[in-house]
Amino acid sequence: MMTREQALDMFQSDDLVGIGVEADALRRRLHPGGVVSYIIDRNINYTNFCTEYCSFCAFYRPMGHKEGYVQSHESIFAKIQETIDLGGTGILMQGGLHPDLKIEWYEDLFRAIKQRFKIHLHCLSAPEVTNITEVSGIGLRDTIARLRDSGLDSIPGGGAEILDDAVRHRISRLKCSSQEWVDVHRTAHALGMRTTATMMFGCGETHEQRLNHLEIVRQIQEDTGGFTAFIPWSFQRENTSLGRFVKQEATAVEYLRTLAIARLFLSNIVNVQSSWVTQGLKTCQVGLRFGGNDVGSIMIEENVVSAAGARNHATEEDLRRLIRDAGFVPKQRDTLYRTYFLN
Ligand code: SF4
Repeated sequence: MMTREQALDMFQSDDLVGIGVEADALRRRLHPGGVVSYIIDRNINYTNFCTEYCSFCAFYRPMGHKEGYVQSHESIFAKIQETIDLGGTGILMQGGLHPDLKIEWYEDLFRAIKQRFKIHLHCLSAPEVTNITEVSGIGLRDTIARLRDSGLDSIPGGGAEILDDAVRHRISRLKCSSQEWVDVHRTAHALGMRTTATMMFGCGETHEQRLNHLEIVRQIQEDTGGFTAFIPWSFQRENTSLGRFVKQEATAVEYLRTLAIARLFLSNIVNVQSSWVTQGLKTCQVGLRFGGNDVGSIMIEENVVSAAGARNHATEEDLRRLIRDAGFVPKQRDTLYRTYFLN
């Protein structure tokens, strides 16, 4: 496995192409058929009320704000039906940390969805799960087990940002600690659930701090094998208060370098995503030669990143062409990266 020193050297190297070639070689070993996958799913934000005030977030509204909402079951059902009608196979449902929504609210919602629809529920990032334990006064293991039993299929990696408490203290002081993020994912894996790992970089952290994040993720994967994928993206500064301090977003070079190093460092995670939503279609395409083997979702609705200024759109055919033109075979997958659909 790549050492921390090797990774640090790569962060400081100016041989971007050389790093990409190494990452591409590892990608090819892990995915010898040249397949690049994508998913059709939908982001549903069940509430934008939140008590955390993260400085990189343009999505949340404080309690009582007139633009705040909690979606009704009917409106969530309608969005799921639209997703299924468009060939979607999963729902990525996340929201702010609402101080009044106890676990029963989530259990009722998940049960109601599963009674009506055959759809994969990839929901509730670690800070939301932690919030539910606190609001409901129950333990973490119980919380995840109850959510699973009511229909939650897997947990997204959101809320990781950079798993280094010095960084978190600066950008998301109130949100869960690194250890809490780790605890949610380890507990979910112990209960047999799969999760993804993410990283939001370019928010003023050092390369050492980025490596702290990658080391934590790699160690969890060594112990549990529960991560299906690693998904790095860069901080989008528009409309955020952190954007007043971080004047420049990560460049395409910094994105590609970080993607390739993550691919190499996390050799125990099979899938690494190249992001078109935050990087744009062209950088995403180049990312397929820097270690990425998946382009993520044709997102039917995405409020969090778009609220912070990312405005890239793509249809299924756009993504398939992007993949083909880079020399790969496009395949639709499900949320767990397991099933390739016949197309
Ligand atoms: S990132 Fe999440 S926890 Fe932080 S303010 Fe936004 S919605 Fe709340």
